[in-house]
Amino acid sequence: MRSVKIERAAWIITLDSRRRIIKDGSIYIEDGKIIAVEKADRLRCEGADVVIEGLNKVVTPGFINNHMHISYAHPVRGIFPDELPLMTYLNYVFKLQSAMKPYEEYYATLLAATELLKSGCTCFADPGSIGNLEAGVKAILDVGIRAMVGRDVVDKPNPLHLPVKDTGEAAKIIEDALRAYADLSNGRVRAWVTVFSPDYASDELLIKAKELADRYHTVLTLHTSFSEEGVKSFEENRGRRPIEHLAHLGVLSGNVLLSHALVVSEYEIDLLAKSGAKVVHCPSAAVRGSGATRFGKFPEMLSKGVPVSLGSDSANSSYYLDMVRLMYLAMVLYKDARLSKAVIPPEAALEMGTINGAFGLGLNDEIGSIEVGKRADLVIFDTKRAEWRSIFYPVNNLIYSADGRSVDTVIVDGRILVKSGAPQYVNEQALCEKVQEIGEDILKRTDISFRYNWQVE
Ligand SMILES: [Zn+2]
Repeated sequence: MRSVKIERAAWIITLDSRRRIIKDGSIYIEDGKIIAVEKADRLRCEGADVVIEGLNKVVTPGFINNHMHISYAHPVRGIFPDELPLMTYLNYVFKLQSAMKPYEEYYATLLAATELLKSGCTCFADPGSIGNLEAGVKAILDVGIRAMVGRDVVDKPNPLHLPVKDTGEAAKIIEDALRAYADLSNGRVRAWVTVFSPDYASDELLIKAKELADRYHTVLTLHTSFSEEGVKSFEENRGRRPIEHLAHLGVLSGNVLLSHALVVSEYEIDLLAKSGAKVVHCPSAAVRGSGATRFGKFPEMLSKGVPVSLGSDSANSSYYLDMVRLMYLAMVLYKDARLSKAVIPPEAALEMGTINGAFGLGLNDEIGSIEVGKRADLVIFDTKRAEWRSIFYPVNNLIYSADGRSVDTVIVDGRILVKSGAPQYVNEQALCEKVQEIGEDILKRTDISFRYNWQVE
């Protein structure tokens, strides 16, 4: 039995049901599980295999990124000029994605997961875009991060040129992934049901996908209501707005996670609340011209009890993956939009990045907070840095002042994956060079290049 003790942490922000913040606290971990979390003087467990000194440290639950296309963007990060129209951009994305070889996806996933971990993200959910799941899952297992994976399907013609399957075949692809990746490495990697979007799925496929999510006790995720234009054309084609339509089909329920959900009506928010469906907001992707504050009704969803979590989207949609910056952005956007500093307080932003994420994945009994019996997914911040001082209420320092660069240690399932800010399982510099090479090769063989505003000589 392997034990880890975090001894005398300056602050532990637990996110437990009472939202305790423990000053001068210790945490005891055994076999990947939290056995005790208490005021240091009251904690009875002695003699761990590994002891981590908590002086000047803030401990939080691991952050959860509920919408992260993990395997394609890193080799070609930053290639797209901002002027590209959305559909043109997405067409390039899918072209590049489909050109990738399994070993390239392996290294891209390794680097992306490393970036996530280094800023405190211990669990991410890929919406089904890993082309070669075997290679992607191998990278995830090699890193040790927690993840949800699936295989994306559509059964209707679409402007993104996503391969169109017939409905039965699409359902079989989903089920094969569910069977193969149901539960790997003690539940650290699991499968979920990923249909790209209701826009490109028949009613029959949507219903089948929900049935599969129920049968395999997992979650169905869909890209939903990202743009005003998309919602309008959905309504013209199907007679209802997307979320209304999902409710009408009986698909909307507690094990459904809708990504984006940017353009929604009041009635649709009521449907979300009534059904128990969850939402993942991708603020850094939405804010790049999609109307995050013009359309987004996330404060209203939260106030009606919809657990809104956070996602970065891919590294080319968001550019950055730092969950602390995402929490900050999700918080300040709507304060400004509603002309009120009271909207989405820092505590709510931290819930979005932790416990709400766990609810979104149906993993709230296992992760999302520091509580006895939960898996030990933890982040330890070093506060011996200018941006952290002075500290009286660490939630404000964390969400407003800090970012992921002050992450010192990251623990997943009781294993220390990042120590003193450095990944323990890979040579980061060599990995960066490898992925750069891969990117250069992909661009060469797909013959994709762009003209930028400023010439590169
Ligand atoms: Zn997406």
